[in-house]
Order: sequence, then structure tokens, then C-alpha cells
Amino acid sequence: MSIKGFQGTSLLDFPGRIASLVFWGGCNLTCPFCHNPALVLDPDAWPDLNPDALLADLTDRAPFIDGVVVSGGEPTLDPSLADWLTRVKELGLAIKLDTNGLRPDVLAELLERDLVDYLAIDLKTVPDRYAELHSGQVDRNVLDASIRLAMAAPVTVEFRTTCVPGIVDAPEIHALGQLIRGAPRWALQQYHPAPALDPTWRRVTPYPAEKIAELAAIARQYVKDVVVRGVV
Ligand code: SF4
Repeated sequence: MSIKGFQGTSLLDFPGRIASLVFWGGCNLTCPFCHNPALVLDPDAWPDLNPDALLADLTDRAPFIDGVVVSGGEPTLDPSLADWLTRVKELGLAIKLDTNGLRPDVLAELLERDLVDYLAIDLKTVPDRYAELHSGQVDRNVLDASIRLAMAAPVTVEFRTTCVPGIVDAPEIHALGQLIRGAPRWALQQYHPAPALDPTWRRVTPYPAEKIAELAAIARQYVKDVVVRGVV
């Protein structure tokens, strides 16, 4: 797994910060509704970005940005991630990690080494339904382990759920809410079908705003703060 994409400046992806975005190729899921199918299905079709050159770029940008968003694909699959993030931290930059939460061992190491300031974990659906998101096996225990790590982590934590019809509805929000009861923040996002990995899922009609609001009301029974994003 390696770095495949870079965006110099973003105001959106690291709330309250001006950040650069770095994208890793490859993933340990193949969600049929994934918005980055090229990065997931065929990462080798994208040229690798040189990590040292990227650090040089970040060094130049460091006076003007607050942090770096580490996203994908799934960045925790890269065995050199922790060492690269150590060098990012040495620049005085904060780090936001976007992850699907299926590598709790990596998450534990990154937290232990103080390499994450903002942790955003996707909750795609209830753990028992993750088999529907991948052609291979998914161990539900790894997601539980990452949730436990996040709930105890001394960093800013956000759980995120894209409300995909057929995958997420009221029963799933209740069940996930029970798993993350007391969490500081849960972001619910509307599904946008156009770039979905599986063409079948490009024909799924997104929930209307009213339905997302209903799901958000359920989520508020469990966590401190619920934010709704991407509703059109
Ligand atoms: S949605 Fe996220 S976890 Fe799922 S395949 Fe795409 S990058 Fe991987």
C-alpha cells in the first residue's frame, strides 16, 4: 500500500483547520457503494507518490497549514505509515486519520505513539453485516476493538456513517448507537450514488433529507453530538 494522491489545501476535511490531504491506495474492504473505486480496485494504475518528496512539500507548506488528513483507500494497511506520520509530526502538523477501523492493532500503535490528533472511524453498518461489504471474510471483533480504542482515546474522535439505503436504517442506527453510546460525535452522511464501486449501487435512490433527519434523531439518543453532512 502506498501514497497515491495529494491535495495541498483543504478547509473541509479537518474541521477547524487548514489541512493538506494525502490518499493511500488499496483497501481491506470492497464496499459496493465506495466512492473511490479506482483507489480500491486498481491502486497500481495510479503512480506512487514519493513519501520523501511529499514531506518536502509539507515542509514548505507547514507555515500555512495546520495539519494533514490521512485518508484512502485504507491508510492503516501501509506498514510504513507510523514512521511517515512521525516525520509529519516533527513538522509541527496535526494529523487527522480517516479509517474503516479494521486494523485496531495499527490504531493502537498510532495512538500509543501520539501520532493522531483527530480520529474519524467509519461505521458502515452493524458489525454482523460487514460480510456484505467484502468478497472476503471480515472479523466483527476487529471493529469492536477499534471502537473501544476510540472511546478511550485522548484525541478528538468522530464516528461516521453514510446512510446507504439497504445497508443503514433505523435498526442499524439503534444497534450502532448502543455500540458507541456516549461517544463525542457521530456524523451521518447522505449517500451519493453516482461514483459507486458496484454499478448496481449507482441506481440506489438516496434517502431524502427527512429520512436522514429521522436517523439523526435516533442517533442523538446515544451520543453527545450528531452532525448531518452532504444532504442535498
Ligand atoms: S468505502 Fe472506504 S472502506 Fe469501503 S471500500 Fe471504499 S475506501 Fe474501503
